[in-house]
Amino acid sequence: MTTRFFRVHGEFCATHPWEVIVATLTLAVCMLTVDQQQPTPLPKPTLRQCAECLQEAEYNAADVIVMTLIRCLAVLYCYYQFCNLEKLGSKYILGIAGLFTVFSSFVFTSTVLNLLRIDVSDLKDALFFFLLLIDLSKAAMLAQSALSASNQEEVKSNIARGMAVLGPTITLDTIVETLVIGVGTLSGVHRLEMLSYFACLSVLVNYIVFMTFYPACLSLILELSRTTNIYGNKQSLIARALKEEDHKSNPVVQRVKLIMSAGLMLVHARSRWPFKEDDVENIRPLVAEQHMSLNRTEDAALHEYIMKWVTVSADHIVILILLLALVVKFVFFENKEELAEQLRAHISTETAPSENKNRLFTMPLIRTTFFLSDNPKEEDDAEREDKEVQTDLARSPFGKSLKGSNDTSAKTCRSVEECLRIYNDSNLGGSVLSDDEVILLVKNKHIPGYQIEKAVDDPERGVGIRRKILSVEGKLFDALNDLPYKDYDYAKVMGACCENVIGYMPVPVGFAGPLNLDSRHIYVPMATTEGCLVASTNRGCRALLKCGITSRVVGDGMTRGPVVRFPSIARASEAMAWMKCSQNFETMKEQFDASSRFARLSKLLIRIAGRHLFVRFEAKTGDAMGMNMVSKGTEMSLKYVQKLFPDMEILSLSGNFCTDKKPAAVNWIEGRGKSVVCEAIIPSEIVQKVLKTSTAALVDVNNSKNMIGSAVAGSIGGFNAHAANIVTAIFIATGQDPAQNIGSSNCMTLMEHWGDTGEDLYISCTMPSIEIGTVGGGTVLPAQSSCLEMLNVKGPNPDCPGENASQLARIVCGAVLAGELSLMAALTAGHLVRSHLRHNRSTTTIPEQFSHTTHLTPPCKDF
Ligand code: NAP
Repeated sequence: MTTRFFRVHGEFCATHPWEVIVATLTLAVCMLTVDQQQPTPLPKPTLRQCAECLQEAEYNAADVIVMTLIRCLAVLYCYYQFCNLEKLGSKYILGIAGLFTVFSSFVFTSTVLNLLRIDVSDLKDALFFFLLLIDLSKAAMLAQSALSASNQEEVKSNIARGMAVLGPTITLDTIVETLVIGVGTLSGVHRLEMLSYFACLSVLVNYIVFMTFYPACLSLILELSRTTNIYGNKQSLIARALKEEDHKSNPVVQRVKLIMSAGLMLVHARSRWPFKEDDVENIRPLVAEQHMSLNRTEDAALHEYIMKWVTVSADHIVILILLLALVVKFVFFENKEELAEQLRAHISTETAPSENKNRLFTMPLIRTTFFLSDNPKEEDDAEREDKEVQTDLARSPFGKSLKGSNDTSAKTCRSVEECLRIYNDSNLGGSVLSDDEVILLVKNKHIPGYQIEKAVDDPERGVGIRRKILSVEGKLFDALNDLPYKDYDYAKVMGACCENVIGYMPVPVGFAGPLNLDSRHIYVPMATTEGCLVASTNRGCRALLKCGITSRVVGDGMTRGPVVRFPSIARASEAMAWMKCSQNFETMKEQFDASSRFARLSKLLIRIAGRHLFVRFEAKTGDAMGMNMVSKGTEMSLKYVQKLFPDMEILSLSGNFCTDKKPAAVNWIEGRGKSVVCEAIIPSEIVQKVLKTSTAALVDVNNSKNMIGSAVAGSIGGFNAHAANIVTAIFIATGQDPAQNIGSSNCMTLMEHWGDTGEDLYISCTMPSIEIGTVGGGTVLPAQSSCLEMLNVKGPNPDCPGENASQLARIVCGAVLAGELSLMAALTAGHLVRSHLRHNRSTTTIPEQFSHTTHLTPPCKDF
């Protein structure tokens, strides 16, 4: 209700700027005119007049101290506001909002004072109150909001939205401020009383200016200058800053303010009535006393003058020293302070973990949310959670709460010796050290940088500390901001998937499907940042939905190909002959198979090169991709052979005859991992309606491109359009080793005319080397495991080990077939460039000046 009211009000100011400005100015001029026409002063001295009299009265110590404190406070507050606005990153906004607010508030307040016939010279003291009362941040937020708009309509709606968000808070703040400052008018310290009156007035005037003149001027200035999207790149930031849901005032704080207002109103009501009655009576003696003081002797006056001068100077000296100190701090120490602050943010997690833990990494959010929030700390934390929690809440494998870290940054850092003693103490250990103490031990090489997680007995804290070290040493203060690291199950990563961990990489995951594979409908997860890819594969799935795909696994064997050397070709050929003997193969297999419950040696492929022998061990590896398993078995087997051929030198367990993660004909010819074939027969009407092409065109282009073109290119295993696209996307989604996309993408796509008329399409994909598994490697990580679950192939197959991995390989091949079909159809129909331009263009990252030229260049990465 209140929000709606302020929104409507904001909308009115933004849509009728001239009217509002003219009305406000007219009112101000009227006030001035009224003042000029004002007859002689009131016969009776009013409270205000008494205050004026009292200003001339003797300076007392309380006045000076209170005023000095207020001035210091005002200066510090200004400095704080200035620093915060500067962090907002915009001198433009600072200029607009700051200067305008200060200027307009001052001018309007002066006008009102003039109307009330208060001497404007009094404002020299009131200035400090102005500084204390003006909230530049809210003005800056409204300006930012308006500037983020891309057209005038949006300017208006942004101002209205800004007013809806800021209005209620500012209204309540104004009430509270007026009442609180109003208490100063009851203080008994005369100058403070007088200034409190000024201040109350200023607060009210500021409020009126902010609610009327300011939004109207913003709207008008932007309309006149036709400024569009000045802050375009900050739009999302600002949009987030003004998101109503996120930035509505904290209801608890609102309630407290309301209760406070009610209480303060009572105080005012009670204090003022008796005061009013006694007003004139109390003041007359004071005025009389003042007149008496004028009749003092000249000596006394001189003495009084000197005392006054001394006290006033002391006041000024304090302010001067404070100003100088702040200037020196800002000019010389501000950056260092920020660095120290960031460092403190790194190392402080124990005393206020939620407050400090990630300040460095979420600084932009803090800056954005700070100004609109009544409770910035809470909102910062909420933002941080939103930003960083991108997986399920982690379970600490160490039985510790991941939230409760042990940062004791509030304490001073102990010496290296002391820290080392604590670290080595089995009852204490690294977990009781603060982050900066752990960093100290890492820097002094007492804790290896790759073992911080273990040292502090808390993986997430360890990762956090490593980020701090990296940020400082690599001067990467902002670089890691958007790399999330919290709430991730690092226990599954450590010692298995990644080292020197500093976070995790979120990659978008889409799905294609249902893929009708062997009469099962499957939804295929694909992790990719390439626009079009999922959409295209999905279209292929649609075309194949009725006819379905048939798949077969025709080969299964992971390989490892060590290189061994003999003193002569005679010895090398002798060993080769020995290994080829089936009886000897059986003994080698025995050794190999003993290394695993699932790895089973099935074949040896031996090649001789001079006195070198290359032995390609091939084994079934159950549901595992099997590289580690086969390496282990190969080593055991070779050691056995070495006993019989002691002059055999094992040069490398991998002699590149495997061949792992490199293009090689051996994988294409012999196969590696799972060898899979898929086929489908697509009726001509589907080819025409869904794929928008013809069988003849498809067969023709497939022959020209995937057969002749690849032959011309001297391709090995690359007789396809874009198998690697689908393979890699599924590999990343399901935790496969992405580097194995090289061999795994070997694929031959064949197309033929089919049926009586020859207008149906026969398509097949042959993929001899899909290196894939459902256990081991990255398959155990939660997100990847979830995608395997989606395909119903998670983990080991308990009934038939190896079946899950084989099924996953079939899915990869089937999805490749769908992707091949769709891309080939797009090529024949000439859709490819158009759809890429539509789906694969990131408008957010391309600078304006380049976006025109890129339209001339087709994105031809796929074909
Ligand atoms: P692995 O995790 O090293 O081994 C699989 C483990 O799962 C074995 O301990 C195996 O038992 C167990 N297991 C349980 N049920 C199983 C089942 N149904 N089928 C198969 N195994 C089962 O996995 P890997 O596939 O051998 O190796 C994959 C890792 O190797 C990946 O991280 C990959 O990045 C990496 N890699 C290594 C090399 C290399 O040169 N070493 C090369 C490329 C990639 P057993 O102990 O009884 O065998």
